[in-house]
Amino acid sequence: MGADEILVGGVWRRGSGAVIESLSPLDGSVIARLHGADAGDVDDAVRAGAAAAADPAWRDLLPHERARYLARIADGIAREAEALAALQTRDTGKSINETRALVRSAEATFRYFAAALETMEGTVTPSRGPYLTMSVHEPIGVVGAITPWNSPIASDAQKVAPALAAGNAVLLKPAEWTPLVALALGRVIEESGLPAGLLSVLPGPGAVTGDAIVRHPGVGKVSFTGGTATGRAIGAAAAQKIMPVSLELGGKSPTIVFPDADMERTVAGLLFGVFSSSGQSCVAGSRLFVHASVYRQVVDELVARASALRVGPGTDPDTQVAPLVTHAHRDRVAGMVERARQEGARVLCGGRAPEGEAWAKGAYYLPTVLEGLPNGSATCQEEIFGPVLVALPFEDEDDLVAQANDTVYGLACGIWTRDHRRAWRVARRIDAGTVWINTYKQFSISTPFGGVKESGLGREKGRDGIFAYMRQKSVYWDMSEGPIPWAS
Ligand code: NAD
Repeated sequence: MGADEILVGGVWRRGSGAVIESLSPLDGSVIARLHGADAGDVDDAVRAGAAAAADPAWRDLLPHERARYLARIADGIAREAEALAALQTRDTGKSINETRALVRSAEATFRYFAAALETMEGTVTPSRGPYLTMSVHEPIGVVGAITPWNSPIASDAQKVAPALAAGNAVLLKPAEWTPLVALALGRVIEESGLPAGLLSVLPGPGAVTGDAIVRHPGVGKVSFTGGTATGRAIGAAAAQKIMPVSLELGGKSPTIVFPDADMERTVAGLLFGVFSSSGQSCVAGSRLFVHASVYRQVVDELVARASALRVGPGTDPDTQVAPLVTHAHRDRVAGMVERARQEGARVLCGGRAPEGEAWAKGAYYLPTVLEGLPNGSATCQEEIFGPVLVALPFEDEDDLVAQANDTVYGLACGIWTRDHRRAWRVARRIDAGTVWINTYKQFSISTPFGGVKESGLGREKGRDGIFAYMRQKSVYWDMSEGPIPWAS
């Protein structure tokens, strides 16, 4: 793998597309410049992938035999863990503690699906005639995996592991801002001995490389994680081919504080839920609803502690709030806070980049708490994808549920209360794919993840995650010996 090589159908070579650059979040300098994949590269990758998937050396492997490849990939990720984490911190700016956790999550994902393959079962359905009826799952063939820049190796693994486990070839397209970790993962997977051609890593612009993957007639499924607007466009293109898609999209997740909550744990959980990853998280708890009776107390405490968070470079293990992924993204976040001001928001802390020599070059933005806006405002409705929280008071449960659900999104929700009945009741009433009660932003590979409404379609993770990359086939097998009634 050279500095300007991508993985096309088992071959490391220079991409035929335009040059893409990965910029350092610390000073904007170019840390990698490489040619992306164009439609011709995608076509080569699809052909090689289809051939590799149909080769008996892969096609005829039993699930528990495929599992060995996944376990070896997990071992490879573990061996390279520190280098992969450092690379990701360099590329995305994220704190090293967080990128180490993301690498561990990628390793766990491959181990989990390796284990799941040991127990893969088909179904013998209750017979309604003189035949044996079965439902079996088969690989799709070639599938596309398109990922965003915010947690690269974890979201890459979340798609590549179940797609390979299911017996497919995979075209992985990382975000153009952060191609490096996906390419390094490609090298680790290659070193596991996986047959060549089963994995391609194709960085490039979404509108070129991503679009070519989605529209290619040889690609039978696309699993996408990214923004809702992109997901909508991919869904529309997929409809033309009648191709299944999985969509993990954006969010504007409500976090709810009731008066009886354990306030110390609650405020810590609120800070983590929105300001970790510098808010660049699909599940960021960015809309805070606090019961009016404790609103001032909670918000004042939150502001005091948000102002004291340690802002710094991702390479410093003490950093809590690292720079944003690029200067352009930081400026976009700053623009959305300006719009909040124009909408009438009060900025209780942050609302700007930190000042001083140490911060001058990095894509930093201070943890920001806003209040004074109605839930219908643009600031409360649109995903900001930065360290920005907007606080709103609520009066009673019905008022709360109405406000929390008044959004196009439905990804996640946090509930802080000591009343277990209330927690359960509210959890069931909120439109969200995931609800955290007295915790936030916890993930497990064994628990399905995904959104409702415009936050997505389909679920990843969990044992059933493999089926997202398979086709179901029913088999009727006649066991009788008599004549076929209709024709006899
Ligand atoms: P994005 O939608 O701009 O890009 C995501 C990926 O799609 C990139 O690889 C991009 O190159 C590609 N792409 C762009 N246009 C395309 C097209 N027309 N056809 C095919 N591919 C195309 O999103 P982003 O800015 O990289 O990521 C941030 C967004 O991702 C946020 O909205 C965030 O909420 C969301 N996200 C969701 C989850 C989840 O699991 N629900 C997780 C992480 C991020």
